[in-house]
Amino acid sequence: MKLCDMTIHELAMLLKAGEATSMEITKSVLDRIDEVEELIGAYVTVTRDEALEQANAADERIAIARKRGDFSGISPLTGIPLALKDNVCTKGTRTTCSSRMLADFVPPYDATVVGRLRDLGAVIVGKTNMDEFAMGSSTENSAFHVTRNPWDLERVPGGSSGGSAAAVAAGEAIGALGTDTGGSIRQPASFCGLVGMKPTYGRVSRYGVVAFSSSLDQVGPMTKDVRDCAIMLAAISGRDMRDATSSPEPVPDYSSLLEGSVEGLTVGVPAEFLHSGLDSGIRELMDGAIRMLQEAGLEVAEVSLPHFEHAIAVYYLISSAEASSNLARIDGVRYGYRAPDASGVQELIRRSRSEAFGPEVKRRIMLGTHALSSKHYEEHYVKALKARTLLIEDMNQAFNKCDCMICPTCPTVAFKIGEKPDDPVAVYLMDIYTTIVNLTGVPAVSVPCGALGGLPVGAQLIGKAFDEGTLLRIAYSLEKACAISDRRAPVAAADGRRGK
Ligand code: GLN
Repeated sequence: MKLCDMTIHELAMLLKAGEATSMEITKSVLDRIDEVEELIGAYVTVTRDEALEQANAADERIAIARKRGDFSGISPLTGIPLALKDNVCTKGTRTTCSSRMLADFVPPYDATVVGRLRDLGAVIVGKTNMDEFAMGSSTENSAFHVTRNPWDLERVPGGSSGGSAAAVAAGEAIGALGTDTGGSIRQPASFCGLVGMKPTYGRVSRYGVVAFSSSLDQVGPMTKDVRDCAIMLAAISGRDMRDATSSPEPVPDYSSLLEGSVEGLTVGVPAEFLHSGLDSGIRELMDGAIRMLQEAGLEVAEVSLPHFEHAIAVYYLISSAEASSNLARIDGVRYGYRAPDASGVQELIRRSRSEAFGPEVKRRIMLGTHALSSKHYEEHYVKALKARTLLIEDMNQAFNKCDCMICPTCPTVAFKIGEKPDDPVAVYLMDIYTTIVNLTGVPAVSVPCGALGGLPVGAQLIGKAFDEGTLLRIAYSLEKACAISDRRAPVAAADGRRGK
Protein backbone atom coordinates (compact mmCIF):
# COMPACT_ATOMS: atom_id res chain seq x y z
CA MET A 1 0.00 0.00 0.00
CA LYS A 2 1.29 3.46 -0.89
CA LEU A 3 1.69 6.25 1.67
CA CYS A 4 -1.15 8.21 0.05
CA ASP A 5 -3.54 5.32 0.74
CA MET A 6 -2.85 5.25 4.46
CA THR A 7 -4.75 6.97 7.26
CA ILE A 8 -3.73 10.02 9.28
CA HIS A 9 -3.08 7.99 12.41
CA GLU A 10 -0.98 5.39 10.57
CA LEU A 11 1.11 8.09 8.93
CA ALA A 12 1.50 10.01 12.21
CA MET A 13 3.07 6.88 13.72
CA LEU A 14 5.45 6.50 10.78
CA LEU A 15 6.44 10.16 11.05
CA LYS A 16 7.08 9.94 14.76
CA ALA A 17 9.08 6.73 14.38
CA GLY A 18 11.16 8.32 11.63
CA GLU A 19 9.99 5.70 9.14
CA ALA A 20 8.55 8.24 6.71
CA THR A 21 8.94 11.96 6.13
CA SER A 22 6.23 14.48 5.39
CA MET A 23 8.06 15.15 2.13
CA GLU A 24 7.66 11.50 1.11
CA ILE A 25 4.00 11.46 2.10
CA THR A 26 3.29 14.74 0.33
CA LYS A 27 5.07 13.57 -2.81
CA SER A 28 3.10 10.34 -2.73
CA VAL A 29 -0.13 12.37 -2.62
CA LEU A 30 1.06 14.72 -5.39
CA ASP A 31 2.06 11.71 -7.53
CA ARG A 32 -1.41 10.26 -7.08
CA ILE A 33 -2.87 13.62 -8.10
CA ASP A 34 -0.70 13.58 -11.25
CA GLU A 35 -1.92 10.13 -12.00
CA VAL A 36 -5.67 10.26 -11.38
CA GLU A 37 -6.76 13.89 -11.18
CA GLU A 38 -7.53 14.02 -14.88
CA LEU A 39 -10.03 11.20 -14.35
CA ILE A 40 -11.45 12.37 -11.02
CA GLY A 41 -11.44 16.19 -11.12
CA ALA A 42 -11.47 16.54 -7.34
CA TYR A 43 -9.60 19.86 -7.20
CA VAL A 44 -10.19 23.41 -8.31
CA THR A 45 -6.66 24.42 -7.27
CA VAL A 46 -3.66 22.27 -6.32
CA THR A 47 -1.13 24.20 -4.21
CA ARG A 48 1.85 22.02 -5.08
CA ASP A 49 4.71 24.40 -4.24
CA GLU A 50 3.23 25.55 -0.94
CA ALA A 51 2.54 21.93 -0.01
CA LEU A 52 6.18 20.98 -0.59
CA GLU A 53 7.34 23.96 1.48
CA GLN A 54 4.97 23.05 4.31
CA ALA A 55 6.13 19.43 4.18
CA ASN A 56 9.69 20.60 4.54
CA ALA A 57 8.76 22.79 7.51
CA ALA A 58 6.90 19.88 9.14
CA ASP A 59 9.92 17.61 8.70
CA GLU A 60 12.13 20.21 10.37
CA ARG A 61 9.66 20.51 13.23
CA ILE A 62 9.64 16.75 13.73
CA ALA A 63 13.46 16.58 13.51
CA ILE A 64 13.78 19.19 16.27
CA ALA A 65 11.28 17.30 18.44
CA ARG A 66 13.25 14.10 17.93
CA LYS A 67 16.55 15.78 18.84
CA ARG A 68 14.99 17.14 22.03
CA GLY A 69 13.22 13.88 22.77
CA ASP A 70 10.04 15.93 23.26
CA PHE A 71 7.13 15.32 20.89
CA SER A 72 4.64 17.42 22.86
CA GLY A 73 4.59 20.08 20.13
CA ILE A 74 3.85 17.50 17.43
CA SER A 75 0.24 16.79 16.52
CA PRO A 76 -1.03 13.73 14.65
CA LEU A 77 -1.70 16.24 11.84
CA THR A 78 1.87 17.55 11.66
CA GLY A 79 3.14 16.81 8.16
CA ILE A 80 -0.16 15.31 6.92
CA PRO A 81 -1.43 16.44 3.48
CA LEU A 82 -5.02 17.66 3.68
CA ALA A 83 -7.49 19.19 1.22
CA LEU A 84 -9.96 22.02 1.86
CA LYS A 85 -13.33 22.59 0.27
CA ASP A 86 -13.16 25.68 -1.89
CA ASN A 87 -15.53 27.73 0.27
CA VAL A 88 -13.00 27.83 3.12
CA CYS A 89 -10.87 30.97 2.84
CA THR A 90 -7.14 30.54 2.33
CA LYS A 91 -4.86 33.54 2.47
CA GLY A 92 -3.21 34.05 -0.91
CA THR A 93 -4.94 31.07 -2.56
CA ARG A 94 -8.11 31.68 -4.53
CA THR A 95 -11.34 30.57 -2.93
CA THR A 96 -13.95 30.19 -5.64
CA CYS A 97 -16.96 28.36 -4.14
CA SER A 98 -16.84 26.71 -7.59
CA SER A 99 -18.60 29.79 -8.94
CA ARG A 100 -17.77 32.06 -11.86
CA MET A 101 -18.65 34.80 -9.42
CA LEU A 102 -15.58 34.17 -7.24
CA ALA A 103 -13.33 32.56 -9.87
CA ASP A 104 -10.60 35.13 -9.15
CA PHE A 105 -11.27 35.84 -5.47
CA VAL A 106 -8.10 35.61 -3.39
CA PRO A 107 -8.89 36.04 0.31
CA PRO A 108 -6.60 38.29 2.34
CA TYR A 109 -6.91 36.00 5.39
CA ASP A 110 -7.23 32.36 6.46
CA ALA A 111 -10.43 30.91 7.94
CA THR A 112 -9.95 30.05 11.61
CA VAL A 113 -10.09 26.32 10.82
CA VAL A 114 -7.30 26.75 8.27
CA GLY A 115 -5.19 28.73 10.75
CA ARG A 116 -5.61 25.93 13.29
CA LEU A 117 -4.54 23.26 10.82
CA ARG A 118 -1.53 25.33 9.75
CA ASP A 119 -0.50 25.94 13.39
CA LEU A 120 -0.46 22.18 13.92
CA GLY A 121 1.84 21.80 10.91
CA ALA A 122 -0.63 20.21 8.49
CA VAL A 123 0.21 20.40 4.78
CA ILE A 124 -2.48 21.95 2.59
CA VAL A 125 -2.54 20.27 -0.83
CA GLY A 126 -5.31 22.26 -2.45
CA LYS A 127 -8.88 23.42 -2.72
CA THR A 128 -11.58 21.00 -3.75
CA ASN A 129 -14.46 21.22 -6.18
CA MET A 130 -18.02 21.61 -4.89
CA ASP A 131 -21.53 22.46 -5.94
CA GLU A 132 -21.62 26.20 -6.52
CA PHE A 133 -21.89 27.97 -3.15
CA ALA A 134 -22.51 24.53 -1.59
CA MET A 135 -25.94 24.22 -3.17
CA GLY A 136 -26.43 20.70 -4.45
CA SER A 137 -25.87 17.02 -3.81
CA SER A 138 -23.68 15.86 -6.69
CA THR A 139 -20.97 18.48 -7.38
CA GLU A 140 -22.53 18.76 -10.85
CA ASN A 141 -23.48 22.34 -9.98
CA SER A 142 -19.82 23.40 -10.04
CA ALA A 143 -19.26 26.13 -12.61
CA PHE A 144 -15.92 24.55 -13.52
CA HIS A 145 -16.06 20.80 -14.09
CA VAL A 146 -17.64 17.58 -12.87
CA THR A 147 -16.00 15.43 -10.22
CA ARG A 148 -16.14 11.67 -10.64
CA ASN A 149 -16.65 9.09 -7.93
CA PRO A 150 -13.44 7.03 -7.43
CA TRP A 151 -15.60 3.92 -6.93
CA ASP A 152 -17.23 4.29 -10.36
CA LEU A 153 -16.15 7.02 -12.73
CA GLU A 154 -19.60 7.20 -14.32
CA ARG A 155 -21.10 8.28 -11.02
CA VAL A 156 -21.20 11.45 -8.94
CA PRO A 157 -19.18 11.66 -5.71
CA GLY A 158 -22.14 13.31 -3.98
CA GLY A 159 -22.12 16.90 -2.85
CA SER A 160 -21.77 19.56 -2.14
CA SER A 161 -18.37 18.56 -0.68
CA GLY A 162 -17.88 16.08 -3.54
CA GLY A 163 -14.35 17.19 -4.39
CA SER A 164 -13.17 16.68 -0.81
CA ALA A 165 -14.78 13.23 -0.73
CA ALA A 166 -13.34 12.16 -4.09
CA ALA A 167 -9.87 13.47 -3.17
CA VAL A 168 -9.69 11.43 0.05
CA ALA A 169 -11.23 8.30 -1.51
CA ALA A 170 -8.72 8.42 -4.39
CA GLY A 171 -5.66 9.06 -2.20
CA GLU A 172 -5.31 12.62 -3.53
CA ALA A 173 -5.39 13.84 0.08
CA ILE A 174 -5.16 11.99 3.39
CA GLY A 175 -8.11 13.83 4.92
CA ALA A 176 -10.21 16.85 4.04
CA LEU A 177 -12.54 19.51 5.35
CA GLY A 178 -16.04 19.85 4.00
CA THR A 179 -19.00 21.98 5.00
CA ASP A 180 -22.46 20.69 5.81
CA THR A 181 -25.63 22.80 5.71
CA GLY A 182 -28.09 20.02 4.91
CA GLY A 183 -25.93 16.92 4.40
CA SER A 184 -22.99 18.08 2.29
CA ILE A 185 -20.34 16.26 4.33
CA ARG A 186 -22.28 13.12 5.22
CA GLN A 187 -23.85 12.36 1.84
CA PRO A 188 -20.60 12.52 -0.20
CA ALA A 189 -18.87 10.55 2.59
CA SER A 190 -21.56 7.89 2.18
CA PHE A 191 -21.19 7.87 -1.64
CA CYS A 192 -17.38 7.61 -1.48
CA GLY A 193 -16.95 5.11 1.38
CA LEU A 194 -15.63 7.63 3.92
CA VAL A 195 -16.35 8.79 7.43
CA GLY A 196 -17.83 12.30 7.42
CA MET A 197 -19.03 14.30 10.39
CA LYS A 198 -21.22 17.34 10.80
CA PRO A 199 -20.37 18.58 14.29
CA THR A 200 -22.85 20.25 16.67
CA TYR A 201 -23.81 23.76 15.55
CA GLY A 202 -21.26 26.00 17.27
CA ARG A 203 -18.64 23.28 17.80
CA VAL A 204 -16.42 24.59 14.98
CA SER A 205 -15.70 28.19 14.02
CA ARG A 206 -17.12 29.36 10.71
CA TYR A 207 -15.03 32.52 10.54
CA GLY A 208 -13.69 32.73 6.99
CA VAL A 209 -16.05 30.08 5.63
CA VAL A 210 -18.26 31.52 2.90
CA ALA A 211 -21.76 31.60 4.40
CA PHE A 212 -24.62 29.71 2.76
CA SER A 213 -27.18 29.42 5.56
CA SER A 214 -25.79 30.82 8.77
CA SER A 215 -28.13 29.02 11.19
CA LEU A 216 -27.26 25.65 9.63
CA ASP A 217 -23.68 25.72 8.28
CA GLN A 218 -20.92 23.75 10.01
CA VAL A 219 -17.41 22.72 8.94
CA GLY A 220 -16.34 19.12 9.54
CA PRO A 221 -13.88 16.34 8.73
CA MET A 222 -14.00 13.83 5.86
CA THR A 223 -11.63 10.95 6.52
CA LYS A 224 -10.86 7.31 5.81
CA ASP A 225 -11.82 6.14 9.28
CA VAL A 226 -13.33 7.15 12.62
CA ARG A 227 -9.98 7.62 14.37
CA ASP A 228 -8.92 10.14 11.72
CA CYS A 229 -12.27 11.90 12.13
CA ALA A 230 -11.63 12.24 15.88
CA ILE A 231 -8.17 13.69 15.22
CA MET A 232 -9.41 16.29 12.74
CA LEU A 233 -12.44 17.22 14.82
CA ALA A 234 -10.29 17.93 17.89
CA ALA A 235 -7.99 20.09 15.76
CA ILE A 236 -10.71 22.39 14.40
CA SER A 237 -13.15 22.57 17.35
CA GLY A 238 -13.47 25.19 20.05
CA ARG A 239 -14.34 28.78 20.81
CA ASP A 240 -13.23 31.44 18.37
CA MET A 241 -13.61 35.07 19.38
CA ARG A 242 -14.17 35.88 15.69
CA ASP A 243 -17.31 33.74 15.44
CA ALA A 244 -19.98 34.66 17.97
CA THR A 245 -21.83 31.41 17.27
CA SER A 246 -18.85 29.26 18.26
CA SER A 247 -19.27 27.60 21.64
CA PRO A 248 -17.06 27.88 24.73
CA GLU A 249 -17.89 24.23 25.52
CA PRO A 250 -14.52 22.52 26.27
CA VAL A 251 -13.06 20.29 23.55
CA PRO A 252 -12.33 16.77 24.79
CA ASP A 253 -9.54 14.62 23.42
CA TYR A 254 -11.86 12.74 21.09
CA SER A 255 -9.26 10.11 20.14
CA SER A 256 -8.90 8.94 23.73
CA LEU A 257 -12.68 8.42 23.97
CA LEU A 258 -12.89 5.94 21.10
CA GLU A 259 -11.91 2.77 22.90
CA GLY A 260 -14.31 3.09 25.83
CA SER A 261 -17.12 0.57 26.25
CA VAL A 262 -20.46 1.10 24.54
CA GLU A 263 -22.11 -1.41 26.86
CA GLY A 264 -25.37 -0.06 28.26
CA LEU A 265 -25.73 2.79 25.78
CA THR A 266 -28.94 2.91 23.77
CA VAL A 267 -29.28 3.39 20.04
CA GLY A 268 -32.64 4.73 18.91
CA VAL A 269 -34.15 3.67 15.60
CA PRO A 270 -36.56 6.36 14.41
CA ALA A 271 -39.63 4.52 13.15
CA GLU A 272 -40.32 7.14 10.45
CA PHE A 273 -36.86 6.83 8.91
CA LEU A 274 -37.07 3.18 8.09
CA HIS A 275 -40.66 3.25 6.87
CA SER A 276 -40.27 5.93 4.24
CA GLY A 277 -40.12 3.79 1.10
CA LEU A 278 -36.50 2.89 1.64
CA ASP A 279 -34.56 0.85 -0.95
CA SER A 280 -34.57 -2.77 0.23
CA GLY A 281 -30.80 -3.21 -0.13
CA ILE A 282 -30.10 -0.16 2.03
CA ARG A 283 -32.72 -1.32 4.52
CA GLU A 284 -30.92 -4.67 4.86
CA LEU A 285 -27.59 -2.97 5.46
CA MET A 286 -29.22 -0.79 8.13
CA ASP A 287 -30.73 -3.82 9.82
CA GLY A 288 -27.27 -5.39 9.76
CA ALA A 289 -25.70 -2.28 11.29
CA ILE A 290 -28.32 -2.22 14.06
CA ARG A 291 -27.62 -5.90 14.79
CA MET A 292 -23.89 -5.21 14.96
CA LEU A 293 -24.41 -2.39 17.43
CA GLN A 294 -26.58 -4.70 19.49
CA GLU A 295 -23.87 -7.35 19.50
CA ALA A 296 -21.37 -4.69 20.58
CA GLY A 297 -23.51 -4.20 23.71
CA LEU A 298 -25.90 -1.38 22.83
CA GLU A 299 -29.58 -1.55 23.67
CA VAL A 300 -31.93 -0.86 20.76
CA ALA A 301 -35.05 1.27 21.25
CA GLU A 302 -37.65 2.43 18.75
CA VAL A 303 -38.02 6.21 18.87
CA SER A 304 -40.20 8.62 16.96
CA LEU A 305 -39.64 11.92 15.15
CA PRO A 306 -43.25 12.67 14.23
CA HIS A 307 -42.60 15.84 12.20
CA PHE A 308 -39.69 14.38 10.29
CA GLU A 309 -41.50 14.40 6.93
CA HIS A 310 -41.54 18.22 6.98
CA ALA A 311 -37.78 18.56 7.37
CA ILE A 312 -37.02 18.94 3.65
CA ALA A 313 -39.60 21.69 3.07
CA VAL A 314 -38.47 23.51 6.21
CA TYR A 315 -34.82 23.14 5.24
CA TYR A 316 -35.25 24.47 1.69
CA LEU A 317 -37.23 27.46 2.92
CA ILE A 318 -34.89 28.45 5.74
CA SER A 319 -31.66 27.72 3.89
CA SER A 320 -32.78 29.58 0.77
CA ALA A 321 -34.02 32.55 2.81
CA GLU A 322 -30.68 32.82 4.57
CA ALA A 323 -28.79 32.27 1.31
CA SER A 324 -30.66 35.07 -0.44
CA SER A 325 -29.55 37.38 2.34
CA ASN A 326 -25.97 36.07 2.59
CA LEU A 327 -25.35 36.17 -1.16
CA ALA A 328 -26.68 39.73 -1.47
CA ARG A 329 -23.20 40.97 -0.58
CA ILE A 330 -21.77 39.34 -3.68
CA ASP A 331 -22.67 42.05 -6.13
CA GLY A 332 -19.70 42.72 -8.40
CA VAL A 333 -19.10 46.03 -6.59
CA ARG A 334 -17.18 45.06 -3.46
CA TYR A 335 -16.04 41.78 -4.88
CA GLY A 336 -17.01 39.07 -7.29
CA TYR A 337 -17.31 39.05 -11.05
CA ARG A 338 -18.04 42.47 -12.50
CA ALA A 339 -19.99 42.75 -15.77
CA PRO A 340 -18.18 44.97 -18.27
CA ASP A 341 -19.52 48.25 -19.66
CA ALA A 342 -22.50 48.69 -17.32
CA SER A 343 -24.16 52.09 -17.57
CA GLY A 344 -24.96 52.48 -13.86
CA VAL A 345 -24.78 50.75 -10.47
CA GLN A 346 -28.18 49.06 -10.78
CA GLU A 347 -27.30 47.61 -14.15
CA LEU A 348 -23.84 46.61 -12.93
CA ILE A 349 -25.27 44.61 -10.04
CA ARG A 350 -28.06 43.08 -12.07
CA ARG A 351 -25.83 42.02 -14.92
CA SER A 352 -22.96 40.82 -12.73
CA ARG A 353 -25.27 38.57 -10.76
CA SER A 354 -27.20 37.37 -13.81
CA GLU A 355 -24.04 36.53 -15.71
CA ALA A 356 -22.01 34.90 -12.95
CA PHE A 357 -24.40 32.93 -10.73
CA GLY A 358 -25.39 29.48 -12.01
CA PRO A 359 -29.00 28.26 -12.33
CA GLU A 360 -29.23 26.45 -8.97
CA VAL A 361 -27.92 29.46 -7.05
CA LYS A 362 -30.39 31.72 -8.84
CA ARG A 363 -33.21 29.30 -8.05
CA ARG A 364 -32.35 29.40 -4.34
CA ILE A 365 -32.00 33.20 -4.29
CA MET A 366 -35.42 33.57 -5.91
CA LEU A 367 -37.05 31.05 -3.59
CA GLY A 368 -35.46 32.67 -0.53
CA THR A 369 -36.28 36.23 -1.58
CA HIS A 370 -39.88 35.19 -2.19
CA ALA A 371 -40.12 33.49 1.22
CA LEU A 372 -38.81 36.64 2.92
CA SER A 373 -40.94 39.15 0.98
CA SER A 374 -43.37 41.06 3.19
CA LYS A 375 -46.42 39.48 1.58
CA HIS A 376 -45.25 35.89 2.02
CA TYR A 377 -43.04 36.10 5.10
CA GLU A 378 -45.64 34.81 7.60
CA GLU A 379 -46.95 32.12 5.34
CA HIS A 380 -43.53 30.68 4.40
CA TYR A 381 -40.60 31.81 6.52
CA VAL A 382 -42.31 32.17 9.91
CA LYS A 383 -44.16 28.90 9.38
CA ALA A 384 -40.87 27.17 8.59
CA LEU A 385 -39.35 28.57 11.79
CA LYS A 386 -42.29 27.19 13.79
CA ALA A 387 -41.94 23.80 12.18
CA ARG A 388 -38.23 23.89 12.99
CA THR A 389 -39.14 24.31 16.66
CA LEU A 390 -41.35 21.22 16.44
CA LEU A 391 -38.46 19.26 14.95
CA ILE A 392 -36.21 20.38 17.82
CA GLU A 393 -38.84 19.21 20.31
CA ASP A 394 -39.08 15.87 18.49
CA MET A 395 -35.33 15.48 18.72
CA ASN A 396 -35.27 16.32 22.45
CA GLN A 397 -38.04 13.80 23.13
CA ALA A 398 -36.28 11.08 21.17
CA PHE A 399 -33.00 11.70 23.02
CA ASN A 400 -34.78 11.13 26.33
CA LYS A 401 -34.86 7.49 25.27
CA CYS A 402 -31.47 6.98 23.65
CA ASP A 403 -27.85 8.11 23.42
CA CYS A 404 -27.69 8.16 19.64
CA MET A 405 -29.90 7.33 16.66
CA ILE A 406 -29.21 5.36 13.52
CA CYS A 407 -30.64 5.68 10.02
CA PRO A 408 -29.30 5.69 6.47
CA THR A 409 -27.26 8.72 5.44
CA CYS A 410 -28.92 8.75 2.03
CA PRO A 411 -31.78 6.73 0.51
CA THR A 412 -29.62 5.66 -2.48
CA VAL A 413 -26.08 4.86 -3.52
CA ALA A 414 -24.18 7.29 -5.79
CA PHE A 415 -26.20 8.01 -8.91
CA LYS A 416 -24.94 8.44 -12.47
CA ILE A 417 -23.52 11.73 -13.70
CA GLY A 418 -26.22 13.54 -15.68
CA GLU A 419 -28.98 11.30 -14.36
CA LYS A 420 -31.02 14.01 -12.69
CA PRO A 421 -30.34 17.13 -14.74
CA ASP A 422 -33.78 18.75 -14.89
CA ASP A 423 -35.35 17.64 -11.68
CA PRO A 424 -34.10 19.70 -8.75
CA VAL A 425 -36.86 18.43 -6.48
CA ALA A 426 -35.79 14.81 -6.99
CA VAL A 427 -32.33 15.83 -5.82
CA TYR A 428 -33.73 17.79 -2.85
CA LEU A 429 -35.61 14.69 -1.69
CA MET A 430 -32.35 12.82 -1.26
CA ASP A 431 -31.62 15.07 1.75
CA ILE A 432 -34.42 13.40 3.66
CA TYR A 433 -32.22 11.91 6.39
CA THR A 434 -29.63 14.65 6.71
CA THR A 435 -31.44 18.01 6.84
CA ILE A 436 -33.20 17.34 10.16
CA VAL A 437 -29.78 17.14 11.79
CA ASN A 438 -28.79 20.65 10.69
CA LEU A 439 -32.22 22.08 11.55
CA THR A 440 -31.93 20.77 15.09
CA GLY A 441 -28.24 21.58 15.51
CA VAL A 442 -27.12 18.14 16.73
CA PRO A 443 -24.02 16.29 15.46
CA ALA A 444 -24.10 13.32 13.08
CA VAL A 445 -21.54 11.12 11.39
CA SER A 446 -21.76 8.88 8.32
CA VAL A 447 -19.86 5.62 8.67
CA PRO A 448 -19.39 3.09 5.83
CA CYS A 449 -21.46 0.01 6.67
CA GLY A 450 -21.30 -2.03 3.45
CA ALA A 451 -21.80 -1.83 -0.29
CA LEU A 452 -24.51 -2.38 -2.89
CA GLY A 453 -23.38 -3.38 -6.36
CA GLY A 454 -19.83 -2.35 -5.48
CA LEU A 455 -20.87 1.11 -4.31
CA PRO A 456 -20.41 2.20 -0.70
CA VAL A 457 -23.33 2.81 1.66
CA GLY A 458 -23.10 4.89 4.83
CA ALA A 459 -25.02 4.55 8.07
CA GLN A 460 -25.77 7.84 9.77
CA LEU A 461 -25.37 8.03 13.54
CA ILE A 462 -26.98 11.09 15.13
CA GLY A 463 -25.80 12.26 18.56
CA LYS A 464 -26.77 14.63 21.35
CA ALA A 465 -25.58 18.23 21.14
CA PHE A 466 -21.90 18.54 22.08
CA ASP A 467 -21.65 14.81 22.72
CA GLU A 468 -19.41 14.05 19.75
CA GLY A 469 -17.32 11.92 22.12
CA THR A 470 -20.08 9.33 22.63
CA LEU A 471 -21.08 9.58 18.98
CA LEU A 472 -17.54 8.80 17.82
CA ARG A 473 -17.23 5.94 20.30
CA ILE A 474 -20.37 4.32 18.89
CA ALA A 475 -19.19 5.05 15.34
CA TYR A 476 -15.87 3.39 16.16
CA SER A 477 -17.56 0.24 17.42
CA LEU A 478 -19.73 0.11 14.29
CA GLU A 479 -16.66 0.54 12.11
CA LYS A 480 -14.89 -2.31 13.90
CA ALA A 481 -17.94 -4.57 13.61
CA CYS A 482 -18.32 -3.84 9.89
CA ALA A 483 -14.66 -4.85 9.38
CA ILE A 484 -14.50 -3.68 5.77
CA SER A 485 -11.15 -5.16 4.73
CA ASP A 486 -10.02 -3.00 1.80
CA ARG A 487 -11.42 0.49 2.00
CA ARG A 488 -9.58 1.71 -1.07
CA ALA A 489 -11.68 2.83 -4.01
CA PRO A 490 -10.88 0.99 -7.26
CA VAL A 491 -9.02 4.05 -8.62
CA ALA A 492 -6.64 3.90 -5.65
CA ALA A 493 -6.41 0.11 -5.52
CA ALA A 494 -5.48 0.03 -9.25
CA ASP A 495 -2.38 2.14 -8.59
CA GLY A 496 0.07 -0.78 -8.47
CA ARG A 497 -1.50 -2.32 -11.56
CA ARG A 498 -0.96 0.87 -13.54
CA GLY A 499 2.72 0.20 -12.97
CA LYS A 500 3.68 3.41 -11.19
N1 GLN B 1 -28.05 19.14 -0.73
C1 GLN B 1 -28.32 20.22 0.17
C2 GLN B 1 -28.56 21.50 -0.62
O1 GLN B 1 -28.45 21.44 -1.79
C3 GLN B 1 -27.23 20.35 1.17
C4 GLN B 1 -26.19 21.34 0.86
C5 GLN B 1 -25.15 21.50 1.95
O2 GLN B 1 -25.18 20.82 2.97
N2 GLN B 1 -24.28 22.45 1.72
O3 GLN B 1 -28.84 22.52 -0.09
